[in-house]
Amino acid sequence: MCKLLPAFVSFLAFSFTVSVEAGRTVSAADVGVTAGVDTAYVNGELLTMNASNDIAQAVAVKGDKIYAVGSNSDLRALTGPNTRVVDLASKTLLPGFIDAHGHFPESGVNALYRVNANSPPIGTTQSIADIIARLREKAEKTPKGQWVQGFGYDDTLLAEKRHPTRDDLDKASTEHPIWLSHISGHFGVANSLALDRAKITADTPDPKGGVIRRYPPGTKKPNGVFEEVALFQILGVIPPWSLAQSLDAISVAALEYARKGVTTAQSGLTLDAWLDTFITAASTPSALPIRVVVWPAFKATDKTIPESPMLKLGAVKLIADGSIQGYSGYLSQPYAVPPPGGKADYVGYPFVSREELTARVKALHTAGYQIAIHGNGDAAIDNILYAYREAQQASPRPDARHIIVHSQMAREDQLDAMKELGIIPSFFSLHTYYWGDRHRDIFMGRERAYRISPAQSAHKRGLRFTIHTDTPVVPMDPLLLVWAAVNRISTGGDIIGVEQRIMPIEALRAITIDAAWQHFDENRTGSIEPGKLADLVILAESPLRFPLHIRDIQVLETIVGGQTIYKNW
Ligand SMILES: [Zn+2]
Repeated sequence: MCKLLPAFVSFLAFSFTVSVEAGRTVSAADVGVTAGVDTAYVNGELLTMNASNDIAQAVAVKGDKIYAVGSNSDLRALTGPNTRVVDLASKTLLPGFIDAHGHFPESGVNALYRVNANSPPIGTTQSIADIIARLREKAEKTPKGQWVQGFGYDDTLLAEKRHPTRDDLDKASTEHPIWLSHISGHFGVANSLALDRAKITADTPDPKGGVIRRYPPGTKKPNGVFEEVALFQILGVIPPWSLAQSLDAISVAALEYARKGVTTAQSGLTLDAWLDTFITAASTPSALPIRVVVWPAFKATDKTIPESPMLKLGAVKLIADGSIQGYSGYLSQPYAVPPPGGKADYVGYPFVSREELTARVKALHTAGYQIAIHGNGDAAIDNILYAYREAQQASPRPDARHIIVHSQMAREDQLDAMKELGIIPSFFSLHTYYWGDRHRDIFMGRERAYRISPAQSAHKRGLRFTIHTDTPVVPMDPLLLVWAAVNRISTGGDIIGVEQRIMPIEALRAITIDAAWQHFDENRTGSIEPGKLADLVILAESPLRFPLHIRDIQVLETIVGGQTIYKNW
């Protein structure tokens, strides 16, 4: 809590200014709003997330923007007969939470159209038999020939400790093509009809950067499990959701995010069809209640995004490797326990070669784009750093803000390189909670597991970082994410690396102002300062007080552009 004391001191000395536009400061008397501001939130504890982490008491909102920040008495002069005054009754007000990386609105798609195959603590699936029963139930309600989809199974949490196969899924239906996604999104299982639809046979070779798993021993028959690049062979034959289905998914996901205090969502690896849907939603009143930053998949989009405060084009998303818990994360040193049937020196594999990655990065960087590359294993991060360095050397850009998404196994020397090159690591800090015990016992071993998502190492270097939930990989819950980054407690109760814990204020900055900065949005969102958009969240208590309690704090209200989109108090 090192920053708390100065913050309280500056609170006592808080001086009132109204800054209507950057650089133009006026006194309250000059404001000329005889009718007063639209809304004044008073009697609160405002964690402003400004440069000095000031804590204020009240904020005035006019239109969709923050008009003034200060004490109750400071704001009194700004209220008029039409001002709505909200008594916060000592509750905590923060800038709305910003999703640094996820896949909005896939959680809405899952909720509406797919079978949930998650195991505890997220879902209730215990075994492959459970998954089959749920897929069968869904198939019985689905016209024959149409796709049945499921998501979220985790092989290491199933009783059988393996991925389901085509034979397992054929027990759910042989008359519906079935596709079941792994919790990581980097694997999936198809039944026999789905394999037929994709024309995958024993003669289909593995694509570069992917694996079509086969039945052992020595047979070429696909067993239904797909890894990494190979997934696209199935995904390519599944019909897209209709516009109406997609808009429904957006509204379901937006409500789910709003309930958790999120005011800006992130759509990573966005295909053009979804970009079209976002454009439609952004121009339809109330169809997009929270803001979205879109990261086009693999290449820059040539679509023009119409002017909208709700939709923003962000980085181009690339992928360098897979996931550690699926054994497709690309490491410099072998996995602690090799995968079933794998060799002792197994290190995973890259999604693309270093040369190909570098060529793509150079082209995008030279053209002026921001780039976000998925990298979990340290060998993949070496490839990414190589590509970013080559690109910067070829055409230097001082403020490119390129991102390494996850940076899970980033070594200390790699964090040095990120600092040097101005790269932002975005950590999936919830791994310490959901997978921490298995990283320690199976995938990484104790020493490496205790360093995953090394947020404190980044902080010590002054390396600005963000943290994310990667939803729908795990449910959207920024306060659980903050709790995880602060405490690093696993589902089994172990502390996954005491040294890498960070302070609550640092974790909160990582989901507010630093995430805004990552999205080149820091002049618009991320802090409670005059002139910024009135994107706010009201919490029942301050996350700065009891670190172990952060995950239990209730979100009371979520406000986007001055409009309440969720309220529960
Ligand atoms: Zn992701």
